[in-house]
Amino acid sequence: MIDRILVRYGDLLLKGKNRRRFVKMAQKRIAERIVNEAITLEPRHDRLYIVLNGEDEQEVIEALKTVSGLHSFSRVMKSPKDLEAIKHTALELARSTVKESDTFKIETKRADKTYPFGSTETSQAVAGYVIEHAKNLTADIFEPDKVLTVEVRQDGAYLFCGKEPLMGGFPVGTMGKGMVMMSGGIDSPVAAYYAMRKGIEVELVHFESTPYTSIESVQKVYDLAKVLARYTGGMRVKLHLVPFTDLHAKLLKEVPEPYIVTIMRRMMVRITDRFAALDHTPVLINGESVGQVASQTLDSIHVTQAVTNTPILRPLLAFDKEAIMNKAREIGTYDISIRPFEDCCTVYVPSQPSTSPRNYYADRYERRFDWNSLVENCVETIKTFDVTPTSEYDFASHGFTIDELFEEGTD
Ligand code: ATP
Ligand code: MG
Repeated sequence: MIDRILVRYGDLLLKGKNRRRFVKMAQKRIAERIVNEAITLEPRHDRLYIVLNGEDEQEVIEALKTVSGLHSFSRVMKSPKDLEAIKHTALELARSTVKESDTFKIETKRADKTYPFGSTETSQAVAGYVIEHAKNLTADIFEPDKVLTVEVRQDGAYLFCGKEPLMGGFPVGTMGKGMVMMSGGIDSPVAAYYAMRKGIEVELVHFESTPYTSIESVQKVYDLAKVLARYTGGMRVKLHLVPFTDLHAKLLKEVPEPYIVTIMRRMMVRITDRFAALDHTPVLINGESVGQVASQTLDSIHVTQAVTNTPILRPLLAFDKEAIMNKAREIGTYDISIRPFEDCCTVYVPSQPSTSPRNYYADRYERRFDWNSLVENCVETIKTFDVTPTSEYDFASHGFTIDELFEEGTD
């Protein structure tokens, strides 16, 4: 029976001086997700064993898929280090992992140099035994469908069949913090995921314009945050809701149509930036991908970035829509993102936004009204939710208007 999961760290092991810190953080992220008390962790120099002690392996594997910084895993059967025991274990493993139509090969790694048999000798003996006892299985040492690995180590032999990839990247929390601007769309949650994959601890900022936009669009963002919380440190994520309605209304009234989107983006960046500065957050992150919609041009990036020196990272910059959608499906955000509710960038905006905005005009139109106090007011009235994969908040039952929403509180 599979009794443990072998987890490999991959690139983390190349981190030189930081290696210990990175590996510790990866272990912490795993421990947070494996709440079961029966399961134990056996950390080794370059790998980690998760000992199942009879618990369900599938749940553990699902949890591992949400931990960045892990390279791959294998389902392992541990055996005593003597050849007869290894043969028996290999037979059991082969029976459960190799189909009749597949060919297999045994590969031995002899990490324990005191082990009395050579690698080839061990592989041959084990393969011979498997073929003899599982008559329907065929060996093929040149082009096998399945490779059964026998790793002989100091404390026993570890047998497994193949390995499967995990998230890669770095453990969340090893690279500092970023503020993700999150709409209810498909892209920004995927951008948040990629940031987390690179080890960034994210917080989410959403601009909400009820009653211009429906309360369901806020619910959507909350539900997206629940999914993203699976991947982040402590399995919780902060969602900051910005009451954007007043400023939104002002923009619609004061700004010439082609510049509404541009200036709305600049206001969102200013607010996120000021808010991020309160907690020394060094980068902002958004879901833009060049050319995806008419307003996502290099000129637009230029004019948006012009309002702050804080870098705005765009993890999806070079991705095509299809790749982003596939990733969204894989990480579990897609079905929520396509719920049919409008966010504030899809309603009350002009049909023809400028594709080549200029700072000169953006500055000029912004001088027409006192946006600074409105921006300040947004920053001051941000409402923060601490979201976990299982937390619940029903926005519809807490009122439809922005005032009600922000008066109610969450705790
Ligand atoms: P998404 O799928 O993330 O909504 P998009 O392709 O629809 O992206 P835009 O609507 O042009 O792109 O928005 C660009 C980016 O601006 C978004 O990816 C997001 O980072 C940010 N953004 C847009 N609307 C909001 C909002 N209401 N709250 C927070 N951020 C937003
Ligand atoms: Mg959008």
